[in-house]
Amino acid sequence: MEKLSDSRNLETIKENLEVINENIVNACIKAGRKEDEVKLLAVTKTVDIERINYAIDCGATLIGENRVQEILEKLPKLSPCALHLIGHLQSNKARKIVGKADVIESVDSLSIAKEISKQASKQGITQKILLEVNIGNEESKFGFDIEEVEERALEIAEFDSIHISGLMCVAPICEDKAHLIKIFSNMHNLFIDIGSKNVHNITMDILSMGMSGDYEEAIAGGSNLIRIGSAIFGPRLYRDKH
Ligand SMILES: *Cc1c(COP(=O)(O)O)cnc(C)c1O
Repeated sequence: MEKLSDSRNLETIKENLEVINENIVNACIKAGRKEDEVKLLAVTKTVDIERINYAIDCGATLIGENRVQEILEKLPKLSPCALHLIGHLQSNKARKIVGKADVIESVDSLSIAKEISKQASKQGITQKILLEVNIGNEESKFGFDIEEVEERALEIAEFDSIHISGLMCVAPICEDKAHLIKIFSNMHNLFIDIGSKNVHNITMDILSMGMSGDYEEAIAGGSNLIRIGSAIFGPRLYRDKH
């Protein structure tokens, strides 16, 4: 078992947020981007509600969770925030999360998009989604292949009760920072390309990429939403199997 890090301590969460926000500004300046272009999503999987609400109090009002069940358990006690689902969604759970998540970032198949639209339609709402891209072409990862994203986006845009608001990816582990920036830039190009087609039901507003280990490279590559967990809350302590 991992040693309890001192970021179990609330004060450390605040300090971590300050450091990350400073790093975001610096990464933006370095990349010649506006300082307020990049938003921070605090990833709170396995984090208890007290610490999440503390982070929200500190201004981290965008919250990301991986699992539907965990969201449903936390929701009644969660302070006001915008909630993003960032983990793979199974069809049979779509009903439970549509309308509760402000954005479902992890849409990785035509069939799940269709199911989300169906459930949103039943509720009389439009669900915002992002398309997840398997940018490193990794067997182990969810997401559309980069070559098929545009075609799938056009198909998914036909569904009535969803709106495609952007793209999301989890980059491969890569020590070569220049190569990593190139990978993120490829995502950014795709984001710009699709956005420029002006398709009904598609606006490329959110480019969600970058995590604790690679967010500076993601910002250099064009990200406008980084998803940070452990750099805010410390190492995750898993209590149950995933
Ligand atoms: C857990 C997770 C993150 C955050 O990871 P850290 O490395 O802890 O910052 C970001 N995105 C997704 C999809 C995740 O599952």
